[in-house]
Amino acid sequence: MTHVIPFLRRQRYTISMKQSSLTTWRRVSQVAFILFIFLMPVLNILRIDSDTHELIIFGVSWSFGIQPEYFADRSALGGLRIAAQFFLKGILPWVLFLAIFPLLGWLTGRLFCGWLCPEGALFELSDFLTLKLLGRRNLYGKRPSDPDGAKEKTLLYGTIAVLSAILIPLAGGVALTGYIVAPKTIWHQIVTWDFTFGVKAGIIGVAVYMLITSILVRHVLCRYVCAAGLMQMLFGWVNPVSLRIKMDTARTADCTDCKGCDKACFMNVTPRKNKRDISCVNCGACVVACNKELGTGKGLFHLGFGKGCALPEENCRNLSPETVKT
Ligand code: SF4
Ligand code: SF4
Repeated sequence: MTHVIPFLRRQRYTISMKQSSLTTWRRVSQVAFILFIFLMPVLNILRIDSDTHELIIFGVSWSFGIQPEYFADRSALGGLRIAAQFFLKGILPWVLFLAIFPLLGWLTGRLFCGWLCPEGALFELSDFLTLKLLGRRNLYGKRPSDPDGAKEKTLLYGTIAVLSAILIPLAGGVALTGYIVAPKTIWHQIVTWDFTFGVKAGIIGVAVYMLITSILVRHVLCRYVCAAGLMQMLFGWVNPVSLRIKMDTARTADCTDCKGCDKACFMNVTPRKNKRDISCVNCGACVVACNKELGTGKGLFHLGFGKGCALPEENCRNLSPETVKT
């Protein structure tokens, strides 16, 4: 594959940002995507109208475009016209839509999971609050890779946690139900506090799902269940030049064994092993952690396309498990 795309073969195409801006941009992109998901049905970009049972895309009702008079034409050409219309409006758009995640995975690995996915962002918020309240990221016990942290401001963070556990799932329920019931209908029902069964079931169903996954399951869902994540994982894995985290193996001696990179990784990857891990979501948290330890721009990791270690090529060949401290 690398011979097909010369600029990737050179493996010099890397993404580097200041440590703080990497985290800031990730948070901005997560929040922006959540807003986008919330606003899509409100702005009629994408939703199903439950009254007319029509799919609305960019304010226009989507139909196969097969006019009744088409059926009057019994010739082969008439049949072909119906088949072509069905393919163009009924099949092709869905194939293209479903190709988004494989294509994203092929090019960027699991970047969507780390930078855009609303559920991923919610799980990270749950991690953060658990860390503040219990002094560990995991609900079920402290792991060696847990960040250092002690319980702090438990009243403040406890209040935030309770409010988040109520408001975020309900907001998610309202937003996602808006994809199948007109948002203005939902708002009217909320204001009058008079809900139809469908709206009630939609909001409560989504809210319960979000609550359970964000408290009890979190990144396990990303690793083993989420279809979008699994597709990105698979296609990113088979593409030898997809975006990934890379380690500068020529400078492994600079590693202070602070374990900052391990502790920063909420996906439980050990980036210093410098092996492609299908769970890595290219979030760059390990890049930030190592820059913090070794100095901005001196960290051992960066995001880049191509093989899992930095140039020159000999670095990759000489790499052995003993080369890095684990
Ligand atoms: S290995 Fe680094 S980039 Fe990958 S998920 Fe962990 S912290 Fe994020
Ligand atoms: S690679 Fe960087 S962050 Fe990780 S242990 Fe070594 S110095 Fe610390």
